[in-house]
Amino acid sequence: MTDEKALRADIIATARAMQARNLIKGTSGNVSARHGDGFLITPTGVPYDGLAPDQIVRMNRDGRCDGDLLPSSEWRFHRAILAAFPHFNAVVHTHSPYATAVAVLGRDIPAIHYRIAVAGGATVPCIPYATFGTAELAEKIVVAMAERRGCLLAHHGVVAAHDTLAGALNVAETIEEMAQLYILSHGVAPPPVLTDEDIAIVLDKHKTYGQQPMRNG
Ligand code: 13P
Ligand code: ZN
Repeated sequence: MTDEKALRADIIATARAMQARNLIKGTSGNVSARHGDGFLITPTGVPYDGLAPDQIVRMNRDGRCDGDLLPSSEWRFHRAILAAFPHFNAVVHTHSPYATAVAVLGRDIPAIHYRIAVAGGATVPCIPYATFGTAELAEKIVVAMAERRGCLLAHHGVVAAHDTLAGALNVAETIEEMAQLYILSHGVAPPPVLTDEDIAIVLDKHKTYGQQPMRNG
């Protein structure tokens, strides 16, 4: 089992990185990581600057928690994602500005750049609006995440998941980058999109993208 103390520190570092990279403002957004048969999650409404490791809330898979602080109001969708998808160990939620602007319009981000594949497919889908913190929102997110590592929440923000916290943060940041490019290019003309075949090739290449054992010859 991952060391709980280290995981708590990692969750705080991830939340602070979301803030430093302009993916959230104030106490918006939240972060969770699988731990044992439950998960650890940021507390609701507590600024990330002064957040201490013992303020991270531990929840079991039934949604019961211990400690003094209440968990993020979005614990239902964090729990639902981690329960539905064993390949995800970490979930981040942001209100990053460009992605949220696309979500306000209720649009998917299309394949305007090859790096959209980081989010798992040829689009970043936008799910219909549901009130924050509800089981309805959690259900809609789980449907979208079956085929993706991230999605937009109409009139709300972004959810991203991966096998590590760094991976989930990278997906959230890439979604923001894609949304920014979408909006910037749209200011000139409706942008053309890559084909599903182009994206399938990139998805395949991403399986071996990054540092790999050196191959000789
Ligand atoms: P919490 O402070 O409860 O995590 O809520 C922030 C948020 O973004 C709700 O969607
Ligand atoms: Zn939110």
